[in-house]
Amino acid sequence: MKILANDGISQAGIDKLAANGFEVITNNVPQDELVDYINENQVVGLLVRSATKVRKDIIDNCSSLKFIGRGGVGMDNIDVEYARSKGITVQNTPAASSQSVAELVMGQLFSISRFTFDSSKQMPSEGADNFKQLKKKYAKGVELRGKTLGIIGFGRIGRSLASYALGCGMNVIAYDKFEFDSTVSLSIAGQTLKASVKKVAFDELLLSSDYISLHVPKQEDGSAVLGAKELNSLKDGARIVNAARGGVIDEDALLDALSSNKIAYVALDVFENEPTPRKDLLENDKIASTPHIGAATIEAQERIGLELAEKIIETLK
Ligand code: NAD
Repeated sequence: MKILANDGISQAGIDKLAANGFEVITNNVPQDELVDYINENQVVGLLVRSATKVRKDIIDNCSSLKFIGRGGVGMDNIDVEYARSKGITVQNTPAASSQSVAELVMGQLFSISRFTFDSSKQMPSEGADNFKQLKKKYAKGVELRGKTLGIIGFGRIGRSLASYALGCGMNVIAYDKFEFDSTVSLSIAGQTLKASVKKVAFDELLLSSDYISLHVPKQEDGSAVLGAKELNSLKDGARIVNAARGGVIDEDALLDALSSNKIAYVALDVFENEPTPRKDLLENDKIASTPHIGAATIEAQERIGLELAEKIIETLK
């Protein structure tokens, strides 16, 4: 039985599948050739991350397909309900990458507080000739300890981020659309401690956060969670991280709020128009950007590969 891992899979996942009699193909087949490739090779399982789209055309025209796996959380690139209605099993690996995304966000919080994202771009060309000027340019860094981090969306990643931020001495407040448990576990030096974040209303979070990090899925109606109105109600000089999904912040409103200095700095791992994000975002010197790498750690990819392999074995064997 052939499994096509079109956006890649960890070696651990390949090994586990091979040991259970599956053949894993790791070719990256172009989107418009997928239907033919799946049919010619009688692929039973198609594994994707966020790049490959699994829409009606594939579901309707590939009768060999029995399993679609998404390495990661968001399944907006798959017509999930339609596939399930056709008897295809669709699974993701929701928990495997939470910690990796949370760690990237911590890195972004530090980076937009100390301008390392910008200074590391300037140093190669300017560092030797204008060291003192650069030192002055980046002299107004701020500390995370004691600052308020507002987390919007308190699911797996939001909770994981809270544990890191609490560990750094931040004051963490959180808002979620649904009722949630505000207790978070922190593992420190072999001990597990329990701490609570403060639950707040959405408006209160916007008003009182020094930093905001979004951890919500793409909204079903496509609306932005932070649009012009919400950005205008933030504390002056707030800093924002979006490692959730492009579109949960309105990109035009974000640029306006940066140019008016309403918000100070932003870190984006996700963009509305992936994989061709707009250049004015990428070139803005108040935006730290990464190419959607929240889950891209060796550890998370290994967990994802193994979890997908287990789900395939359970479903197809
Ligand atoms: P999750 O389902 O555990 O948590 C999402 C939370 O958001 C839920 O508690 C939900 O109630 C809440 N929510 C939804 N809409 C909301 C709104 N408008 N306001 C407030 N709360 C709202 O999901 P998760 O595992 O924490 O992942 C969150 C998102 O992170 C995913 O949907 C995915 O889009 C994104 N993600 C990004 C990367 C990356 O590489 N950057 C990797 C993994 C996941």
